[in-house]
This record gives sequence, C-alpha cells and structure tokens, in this order.
Amino acid sequence: MTAEAKARAACLIGWPAAHSRSPLIHHYWLRTLGIEGGYVIEAVPPDEFQDFIFRLSLRGFVGANVTRPHKERALALSKPDDRARAVGAANTLWYDRGELRSTNTDVEGFINNLDACAPGWDKAEDALVVGAGGAARAVVFGLVERGIKRVHLVNRTIERARALADQFGPSVSPAAWDAIGGLLPRAGLLVNTTSLGMHGQPGLELDIGVLPSHAVVADLVYVPLQTPLLSVARGRGLKTADGLGMLLHQAVRGFELWFGQRPEVTSELRALMEET
Ligand code: NAP
Repeated sequence: MTAEAKARAACLIGWPAAHSRSPLIHHYWLRTLGIEGGYVIEAVPPDEFQDFIFRLSLRGFVGANVTRPHKERALALSKPDDRARAVGAANTLWYDRGELRSTNTDVEGFINNLDACAPGWDKAEDALVVGAGGAARAVVFGLVERGIKRVHLVNRTIERARALADQFGPSVSPAAWDAIGGLLPRAGLLVNTTSLGMHGQPGLELDIGVLPSHAVVADLVYVPLQTPLLSVARGRGLKTADGLGMLLHQAVRGFELWFGQRPEVTSELRALMEET
C-alpha cells in the first residue's frame, strides 16, 4: 500500500457534533475491504465551516460527509453535480483533480434501497410522498429521474409542498393533507419523509388498508428501525423499504469516491447496525 493510500481519511462535518452511525458503516467497509484509512466526526460551528472546507485537504482529508446545519453552505462552497443542485443541498464532498466537488447521495440511497428491497417498485404510476422538507427533495428528485408518472406531494404546511413541486415540473403535484385518503387507493408507492414515527414523535397515522395490494411502503425514519407505518404495512403483507437501508445505500458513493473501491451493503453490515 502506498503512503498516500495509508493517509486517506474522510470525516463527517456537523454542528453540534453529530451523533452518527456513519463511522460504523465506513469503518466496517475499511476493515472488510482491507483498506488502511479513517473516518472521523468533526464538530465545526457555522462560522468556521468555510475555513474548514477550504483547508479540508490540508487537514489530511480526501473528502467529507456534511450534515446539519452545513448542507446548503457545502453546496455553495463547492462545484455541485446535478443531484446536489436539484436537491439544493450537498451531503458528500470529494476532490476531482484538485477541485472540491459535491453531490447529494440521499437520492441514490433512497432509490437503490428501493431497488434492493422491492424490485419492480418503479412500475408504480402514482407515488404518494408525505412531507416536503430536505429529505423529500431528494426523494422527489429520485422519483422524477426514474420516470414515475405522477408524484403527489402532501405536507402539513401546503405552501412548502407547492414550492417544492414547482421546482420539479408537471409530474409532481402538491396536495393538501386531507387529500391523502383519496390518493392512497391508487398509490403504488407510499413514502414517509416526515419525522413522524421517529422515536419520541407520534406515528404517521394513515389508513393504509386502502393501498393497492401491490403497493410498496418506504419510510425514511430509522430510529426506531420498525416504525408504526412499516409495522402496519408488513402486517398487511406489503413490501417495505426502511430508513436504515437508505442510510446504508447513501453511504456507498462517498466511500467509493474517497477510498477507490465500491463497497457493498451486506446483510452482515445491516445486522451490525441493527445491534447498535
Ligand atoms: P425537515 O427538513 O425538518 O422536514 C421535516 C418534515 O416533517 C416536514 O415536511 C414537516 O412538515 C414534517 N413534519 C414534522 N412534524 C410533523 C407533524 N407533527 N405532522 C406532520 N408533518 C410533520 O427534515 P428532513 O431532513 O426532511 O428529515 C425528515 C426525516 O427523514 C427525519 O426523520 C430524518 O431522520 C429522515 N431522514 C432519513 C434519511 C435516511 O438516510 N434514512 C435521510 C434523510 C432524512 P412541515 O413542513 O409542515 O413542518
């Protein structure tokens, strides 16, 4: 192994210091692929973020993940790809011939997890996305890019759903919260992108008994692993895709960009994460 390969390290930049499972994921891949490298958490306050990013390589890093509250600044301070630009936030930074580039891997995390858990999910003509925050942007972008005909976007604050839908063209339509009941019977894909169902929050209470029997249900929440929504969907025998799967799949590209090998989301890695 070369000295350069030995020195490779990436970090997760957040403020306050993020309590994150990302180190566990990247350390697992480094270990199983036999790569000598590192992945650490860096707590960086907003007023120090720009300086930190401009000196990223001087600090010994080949790239970084970025989390709250820095994702929009990361986009502005780097050269983003189409996904990061469309989502309006970057979560992964790397150097391409000395230039700091950025992308948003939540898009492929969401889509690749669906492909792994529910192959054929994209036969759905109607998708119902609940929530219109940061994560919903990545989900909607992924669905539009994949060619889903109609994406219905429902949010508690409808103005946010309208604003998001406006950015994505005619296949995405905003709808009011009380329209959910009417949209469920034709939704081939239902996605929860809200924080409802997260530990300490009420669940997303929908009558999913009216979803078609071929529908797929995805939840972005990963604490707990089995949200009330996923539990009811599984009870009905529907295919599901959970937030942990998305988290694991979104980590793949960063690792590949930084360490030069494409890692796999294995059942062993999943089991390791479930233990924590
Ligand atoms: P965000 O930007 O803060 O958006 C939160 C969304 O939840 C908004 O649509 C908000 O609606 C809605 N919401 C919050 N409380 C609500 C309530 N009581 N009733 C109805 N709607 C409510 O957050 P985010 O970054 O998009 O993250 C959303 C969730 O996705 C979080 O649980 C996060 O952990 C998860 N996530 C998972 C992954 C993964 O890899 N699995 C990746 C990204 C995010 P309003 O607009 O009306 O406030």
